[in-house]
Amino acid sequence: MFSTHKITRTLMPVMLVACAGLALSGIRPAMAAAPMAHKAAPGYYRIMLGKFEVTALSDGTFDMPVDKLLQGIKPPAIDKMLAAHFESSPLQTSVNAFLVNTGSKLVLIDTGSGKFFGPTLGNVLENLEASGYRPDQVDDVLITHMHPDHVGGLLADGHMAFPNATVWVNKKDADYWLDPAKMASAAKGSKGTFKDAMAAFKPYQAAGHFKTFAGSKTLLPGIRSIPEPGHTPGHTGYLVTSDGKSLLVWGDIIHVQAVQFRDPSVTIAYDSNQPEARATRLKILAWVAKDKILVAGAHLAFPGLGHVSKIKHGYKWVPVNYTVPGE
Ligand SMILES: [Zn+2]
Repeated sequence: MFSTHKITRTLMPVMLVACAGLALSGIRPAMAAAPMAHKAAPGYYRIMLGKFEVTALSDGTFDMPVDKLLQGIKPPAIDKMLAAHFESSPLQTSVNAFLVNTGSKLVLIDTGSGKFFGPTLGNVLENLEASGYRPDQVDDVLITHMHPDHVGGLLADGHMAFPNATVWVNKKDADYWLDPAKMASAAKGSKGTFKDAMAAFKPYQAAGHFKTFAGSKTLLPGIRSIPEPGHTPGHTGYLVTSDGKSLLVWGDIIHVQAVQFRDPSVTIAYDSNQPEARATRLKILAWVAKDKILVAGAHLAFPGLGHVSKIKHGYKWVPVNYTVPGE
């Protein structure tokens, strides 16, 4: 048996000679750190909902100056609530879309930003493909509302990104954002939102692939519209139900999870009608908490899937447990 001491004594001269040799020949032993890989995994996350398959698709994240945008709360209180979540403003905020395969229809809910926001967003199409689907397989696209971070992904190089899809939107949003007269009378800062919406829907309107609906209706088997007015006039959630299991894809009910679950009365500058947006949020939170409905949020941290639970002051967000769907 060799002792450690003996091995060291035996090998030491050999190692020294080897190292000296490498140094003389200019070859360095492999001691350098590996270069950083930078890119994250493709942004999709999949769960089963009854017999339906639901895939969260990341559009990316962007820096949101939440201390300047939130309304009905003072900046020091915002900072305190963010700090309790180990966050600060500007807050890196997710933009998510959700793909539902019902077995007979492939349905995309929201489309991300496309080219309408900066380079950190616009990844829905790439992640949809990474998740195993092609854009031409999408049968229907349901839009929660016509803000650019939800409709920009309808376009790919100015054309229909989903050439075989019918695009659905609440009539109240279409009547507002697609009306040139409303754009003309709108504040200067929001004219761009009208222009983006008009550009995103134009090819679908031209191809006869555009449909509007009103109120709460079953639009597709297992998918019902839920009016959520306030953020925009026709802001809509989609209740997806299979085998007694339900998921509410709620769009923009919450923008800043560290603040608005705890204090749902806080609104955001993006809301077109602040009191209505507040009332809708309170109503939706109470409903999903009471009925234990799974939620999918466009701006909740990716994958934006979880439950809402009532606590003494406000609500708590409980993200889904990580699972890998079976075959
Ligand atoms: Zn949004």
